[in-house]
Amino acid sequence: MASDAHAMTPHRALEIGGIATFAGLEGWLAVRLWHATASLESVLTLTLAAVAGYLAADFGSGVAHWAFDRYGTEQTPVVGQNFIKPFREHHVDPKGMTLHDFVETNGNNCIATAPVVALGLTADLTSQHGLFAAMFCGAMSLFVFGTNQFHKWSHEDALPAWVRGLQRAHLILGVRHHDVHHTPPFDRYYCITSGLLNPLLTAVRFFPRMEGLIFRLTGVRAGQGDAQYAATRKAS
Ligand SMILES: [Zn+2]
Ligand SMILES: [Zn+2]
Repeated sequence: MASDAHAMTPHRALEIGGIATFAGLEGWLAVRLWHATASLESVLTLTLAAVAGYLAADFGSGVAHWAFDRYGTEQTPVVGQNFIKPFREHHVDPKGMTLHDFVETNGNNCIATAPVVALGLTADLTSQHGLFAAMFCGAMSLFVFGTNQFHKWSHEDALPAWVRGLQRAHLILGVRHHDVHHTPPFDRYYCITSGLLNPLLTAVRFFPRMEGLIFRLTGVRAGQGDAQYAATRKAS
């Protein structure tokens, strides 16, 4: 299975190209920001933007994970096979993703975020607003890029000490923290970058409220496909 997944296919070539493009754009943005940082005010602006980007990535990871967990099926056009299926499989086989190599883990996120980094490169870096926007785009994309890697690490047994240190410091997704999501019916703690927003979103019942709103607006009930998928896999 793993060796087939690592064979060179058009999609894998696209993923490698996406990773290279993403790294190049992030590097270019970092150099531009470095040269534009000339005052304490700009350092503060960049720090604020980096924290905002870090939290936005965690929130975005939660919303995307929730949507793919709770709506649609593997047969849903466009996103069914590439996004919904891996999330459904992950509930049945949490360690399966640890077999994915760097390209398979990170390629799709690089393809998705490279345009956001490119957008950051268009900002006017002579203003504080422009600095904030550029850094926000760069930092958010960097942490979105990190999300699948952090998630994969949370399921791995053997990890370098520095990764365990980041997990214990709650700077990236922690193992016990993520276990909360992996408790059936898998309907809490969707954020998988750092997970910092999970307690807050749970306290305000953010996702149940969203599901209630979607049900009232469209009549579509959340969680049907995931329950069916788990039942089919257990029966087979
Ligand atoms: Zn899930
Ligand atoms: Zn997981």
